[in-house]
Amino acid sequence: MTRTLPDQFTVLMARESDGEITLASEQLDATQLPDGEVTIAVDYSGVNYKDALAVTPRGGVVRDYPIVPGIDLAGEVVASSTLDFAPGDRVVAHGGPIGTAQHGGYAAYARVPAAQVVRLDTLSTREAAAIGTAGFTAALSVVALLDRGLTPDDGPVVVTGASGGVGSVSVDLLSALGFDVTASSGKSDAAALLTELGATSVVGRLVDDDTKVRPLGKSQWAGAVDCVGGKTLAYVLSTMNHSGSVAASGLTGGADLPTTVMPFILRGVALLGIDSVSIGPELRRSVWARLETDLRPAHLDRLITEIGVDDLDGSLAEIRAGRTTGRTVVPIS
Ligand code: NDP
Repeated sequence: MTRTLPDQFTVLMARESDGEITLASEQLDATQLPDGEVTIAVDYSGVNYKDALAVTPRGGVVRDYPIVPGIDLAGEVVASSTLDFAPGDRVVAHGGPIGTAQHGGYAAYARVPAAQVVRLDTLSTREAAAIGTAGFTAALSVVALLDRGLTPDDGPVVVTGASGGVGSVSVDLLSALGFDVTASSGKSDAAALLTELGATSVVGRLVDDDTKVRPLGKSQWAGAVDCVGGKTLAYVLSTMNHSGSVAASGLTGGADLPTTVMPFILRGVALLGIDSVSIGPELRRSVWARLETDLRPAHLDRLITEIGVDDLDGSLAEIRAGRTTGRTVVPIS
């Protein structure tokens, strides 16, 4: 039976007061939902690094509070003002303003722009939320490398931040495609999981506070998925093979990039920027279609930790501290 939008429902609202941000359960009136073509009964949301920034003072991703965070949501359409979606459709939605500039997935119901919505075929709403923005970004990164012409015959690839959301799904996807994957992780206890996902070798973090990254180092990688940024990305760039490609999506290790032009002008290295937020619906839907088929994560079940809404605060603190492994999903209703 198709669900209907009630007059009021439960949300987790982030409010800012005296420089502090609190996340608490509240009732939201359906009339307070933002503009958007598609109204969704949320089954699952997730925990992303960006969700942690949304509840961090000066986190830089939310301008106006109060807001319902949650950059990912998967559930069932209850109303649609566009013919692209109909009540009863199972969908995933993420990117654009969701969870940062308008209410997101930590709510029993959400209303979002149709451009952010993707109809699910064989993936369950739980699996779609588990993939979420992080897994989608991993797929975007892998697609960018493949589109650039990278093949397993070109040589080893490296994934940084490998135990996290973007990293672990990247290891899973690249291994399934036949790449020789080196997973770089700061968590020694993640080695078994990363090997299970198909990593050929697991190494520690590539740099530490004392590392001075040289303009060029020993060539090691034909491709790279980097979600860490900072000195780590500089090191990856300096150790790429000639004509190698690096897909860069994140900044857990810093937003700066202390590199030189040498990897680009002497080794023809390509730095591919990955953005999951502002891309258009065609690319979003085509990459999700691949996540349902040839890029379906083989070990998704192994990556999922399920938590209750009451545990969200703690889980957001963990991901902010870089202590999370894999993907965390939150059943909402
Ligand atoms: P996670 O926290 O799940 O993963 C990030 C991983 O980075 C951690 O697990 C850890 O891996 C590593 N890490 C954490 N802190 C540091 C540090 N100080 N130095 C080096 N490595 C560190 O986050 P997500 O996977 O959700 O997101 C990863 C990054 O990608 C974030 O910056 C996020 O904002 C960005 N992102 C960007 C998107 C885009 O559209 N461009 C979309 C989605 C995410 P380990 O312990 O294994 O080394």
